[in-house]
Amino acid sequence: MRLLLVEDEADIQSFLYRSLEEAGYQVETASDGRTAEKLAAENIFDILIVDLGLPDRDGIDLILRLRQLGVKAPVLILSARRSVDDRVRGLEQGGDDYLTKPFALAELLARLRNLLRRGGPAATEPTRLRVLDLELDLLRREATRAGLPLQLTQQEFVLLEYLCRNAGRVVTRSMILDKVWGMRIQPDTNVVDVHIYRLRGKVDGKGQTQLIRTMRGVGYVLKDR
Ligand code: CA
Repeated sequence: MRLLLVEDEADIQSFLYRSLEEAGYQVETASDGRTAEKLAAENIFDILIVDLGLPDRDGIDLILRLRQLGVKAPVLILSARRSVDDRVRGLEQGGDDYLTKPFALAELLARLRNLLRRGGPAATEPTRLRVLDLELDLLRREATRAGLPLQLTQQEFVLLEYLCRNAGRVVTRSMILDKVWGMRIQPDTNVVDVHIYRLRGKVDGKGQTQLIRTMRGVGYVLKDR
């Protein structure tokens, strides 16, 4: 089980790191929101622990951002804020459980197990997307083309998921920037083009039908027939 621990207090972070590794988790740590976001974009975690008081941003904002990036793993909020309002806010904004500091390690471990058992998105959501011979497993965050696995980063997966959900329709660069990167205004950057280029290199291999089409001056479309 891969776990991302976002906690800026060094003592708590190292204590938790040791304890969680002992409990069998494979732990990555971040001390601020920026690092956490980067790790979450590049890796797939099964569960996250997020402290609310981070040096560069509020933990709630981080959780919202991670959800936007397509992170579906359960999030346990760890915080010194004990008020009912704080807890409700945390749970309403993307957290799955809330534990206040100081906490007992046994309780933290029990809550993690509980979250992992519950796992996954609600049963009403589709867990697979299929467009022609392209298939996305939304729970495992795995993609295949013609049955062969594609090695995608988290961000590439989210981008491909967005294209699949809109298969056959043209999506513009600003739509992609908004949905995948959470930027409302199109900055002077070719981030979308670069990611599409890399994604296409992985999805549309040699000799295969090109699924990701460029609509010059407009955007992109994922072919669905
Ligand atoms: Ca803190």
